[in-house]
Amino acid sequence: MYMDEKTGLPVVIEDKCTACNACVKACPKDIIELWPVGRKSQRIYVACKNEEKSGVARQECSVACTGCAKCLEECKYDAILVENNLAIIDFEKCTLCAKCVIVCDSENIKADNVPAKTLDKLIERQRKKLEKEKEEKEKKRQAARSEKTAEASVTKSEKDAI
Ligand code: SF4
Ligand code: SF4
Repeated sequence: MYMDEKTGLPVVIEDKCTACNACVKACPKDIIELWPVGRKSQRIYVACKNEEKSGVARQECSVACTGCAKCLEECKYDAILVENNLAIIDFEKCTLCAKCVIVCDSENIKADNVPAKTLDKLIERQRKKLEKEKEEKEKKRQAARSEKTAEASVTKSEKDAI
């Protein structure tokens, strides 16, 4: 392990790490965790440990997890839990599908060694999904507007008839 001079953060040299847990125990802020490596060294993880409420968390860090639970809703494998305003991934359940990575507005769900092609496909899928949702909302808004106009004209005709 060494300290990155630019970020001031510790960096684990993975080839040398034996997962002895010493750094996990030593960190007074409980920041370091040991994560299993998935197939082809892929890993999906939440790069945040801030348990403050979203407003406070964002004041402290512009990319903090807000506990919005969008990732939880997206995960079909029940592998995400939001506890104390913070998303937590259950590595035993996670299938590394990377769908949660795409929906996090804070961009703090990280995907290590997941092929760029896979992420690009998911981004495109998400873009289309949002576009469709927007269109549907607009349709509903227009339908509601037409309904109101129709109601108003019926009321006017009724008044005119009196
Ligand atoms: S989507 Fe991002 S910000 Fe929201 S709970 Fe999940 S990790 Fe946190
Ligand atoms: S990568 Fe897929 S399975 Fe894993 S936590 Fe994210 S959405 Fe769930």
